Amino acid sequence: MALIIHEDCTACDVCVLECPNDAISEGDGILYVIDAENCTECVGAHDEPQCQLVCPAECIVSDPNYQESQEQLQAKYDRLHG
Ligand code: SF4
Ligand code: SF4
Repeated sequence: MALIIHEDCTACDVCVLECPNDAISEGDGILYVIDAENCTECVGAHDEPQCQLVCPAECIVSDPNYQESQEQLQAKYDRLHG
């Protein structure tokens, strides 16, 4: 399952550097966005989602539209990192 950023985002930028997959970027409005195609919930790199750990606004949550197994997330990570 990918993660999604909701409206409490303050655009503090803290999460961007923590992402091992460069999945987080500034959106069109104030909110930052996570590219579900690149988010592996940090599977492959860390034990838990780093963006959630560092976000001071606690505005990063699971995206129910992107249900993926551990194996699928690992395969995505392997694909992204060649
Ligand atoms: Fe990036 Fe990990 Fe957050 Fe997904 S969970 S956006 S891979 S830091
Ligand atoms: Fe927004 Fe949280 Fe990322 Fe800061 S760390 S930009 S509040 S999602």
